[in-house]
Amino acid sequence: MTETADPVSPTAPSGHVPSPGAGWRPFVVAERRDESPQVTSFLLRPVDGAPLPPHRAGQHLTLRLERPGSAPLVRDYTISCAPNGDHWRISVKREPKGAASNWLHDHLPVGQHLEVRAPSGDFVLPDEATRPVVMVSAGVGITPMIAMLEAAVAAGDARPIHFVHGTRDRATHAFADHVAALAGRHAGAIRLDVFYSRPRPEDGAGPDGTHAGRIGLDWLRAETPLREASYLLCGPLDFLRDMANGLASAGVPRSRIRFEFFGAAEDIFDDGAAAAPLSRPATAPLPVATDETMAIEEQVGRALVASPADGVVASDRDGTITVWNAGAERIFGFSPAEALGQSLDIIIPEPFRARHWEGYHQTVATGESRYGAGDLLAVPGLCKDGRRISIEFTIVLMKDGSGRVSGMVSSVRDVSRRFEETKALKKRVAELEKATGAA
Ligand SMILES: Cc1cc2nc3c(=O)[nH]c(=O)nc-3n(C[C@H](O)[C@H](O)[C@H](O)COP(=O)(O)OP(=O)(O)OC[C@H]3O[C@@H](n4cnc5c(N)ncnc54)[C@H](O)[C@@H]3O)c2cc1C
Repeated sequence: MTETADPVSPTAPSGHVPSPGAGWRPFVVAERRDESPQVTSFLLRPVDGAPLPPHRAGQHLTLRLERPGSAPLVRDYTISCAPNGDHWRISVKREPKGAASNWLHDHLPVGQHLEVRAPSGDFVLPDEATRPVVMVSAGVGITPMIAMLEAAVAAGDARPIHFVHGTRDRATHAFADHVAALAGRHAGAIRLDVFYSRPRPEDGAGPDGTHAGRIGLDWLRAETPLREASYLLCGPLDFLRDMANGLASAGVPRSRIRFEFFGAAEDIFDDGAAAAPLSRPATAPLPVATDETMAIEEQVGRALVASPADGVVASDRDGTITVWNAGAERIFGFSPAEALGQSLDIIIPEPFRARHWEGYHQTVATGESRYGAGDLLAVPGLCKDGRRISIEFTIVLMKDGSGRVSGMVSSVRDVSRRFEETKALKKRVAELEKATGAA
């Protein structure tokens, strides 16, 4: 289903909030299109009609969604079309209970305005023009691959491209016809393979590149040129872990494995309980500080920093650790002497660092954190002995007298045991469902 707006005179939005400042630019929804029951595309054009900044296929936009009576939401969405000088397109999967994705689906009709930041990100087609590329995606992870495939076809890219995608069935297969048409236009250079994990009888599996089941490493080993290809991966965290580790252990050098992670917390925690809460608490005015209340607050601060209960970790604008309490030492194993003055990198596993710093520096620069209202974040953490643990934490921004961000402080808990228990339970339920035919 496609809806189209008059691009010349976009309808005035109801309740539009003026641009919140530098870096954000108003765009109008010029068209909407349902790609599948869960995924809807939004075609965006700049309200001022001025040219779009250049971007590379695979990069993403940051959107700011103003919701009357609620805090704005800031989220990243890949540009799901090739650079064309006219518009950007995003394709959003409706996440169960997801705040922004549901808002976009339900409250962003054609003609509505929204604030958008310029494209960023380094998940793009590799520059080596002759090396084969294997794009492997699952679910809505198809969006950057669509942009790159469109760009390759438009440029007459001569390198062999193998497009491998996994989804539940033909009904959830967004962009199926579009990808087939692109491959048809570039016959010979593009190979398509689709995996349906739960195909319906009418979906069929056959010699035309449609397979039943999930994308497997054995299949990738047998069907793709491991010795020479670059691999581009995008999908849920478990999928990325399986694919990236499997390819690396099959001998593909890491320099030839690139991935994009969409970062939903439920991809890390199977029970979703660690994901961002749906509604943010309204900011109540602070009570007026008296000498007595300030003294008590200082005591509370000192008690929390001295306690081994929760980890308290503060860092400056650059991400250098400035406070490291007994709880942080208990959780991560680094003593204050070892942690103070170090980068937060010491507790962030390598694959998560780029994404972390992108968000960190943006928060420092803008003074806005999408997690600043008490939302719980869930990520893997790294201990002194190299162990990976599962942590949950909240963030508080620290600001100086002029309102500039001076650093951040986090309250951290180790939830590894619950994470493992939930994973084991999920596995057991899946086995039982399989055994009883309930799946
Ligand atoms: C670089 C990049 C590119 C991206 N590109 C795309 C793209 O092309 N398309 C796309 O669809 N997404 C994309 N994303 C993901 C997108 O930014 C959002 O994370 C996604 O839409 C979910 O946001 P949300 O506000 O709807 O969910 P959130 O409210 O942030 O919640 C995240 C998840 O937690 C769960 N959850 C939330 N609250 C609760 C609760 N109280 N109890 C239990 N579970 C809960 C929800 O199920 C939800 O799925 C991209 C992300 C990045 C970083």
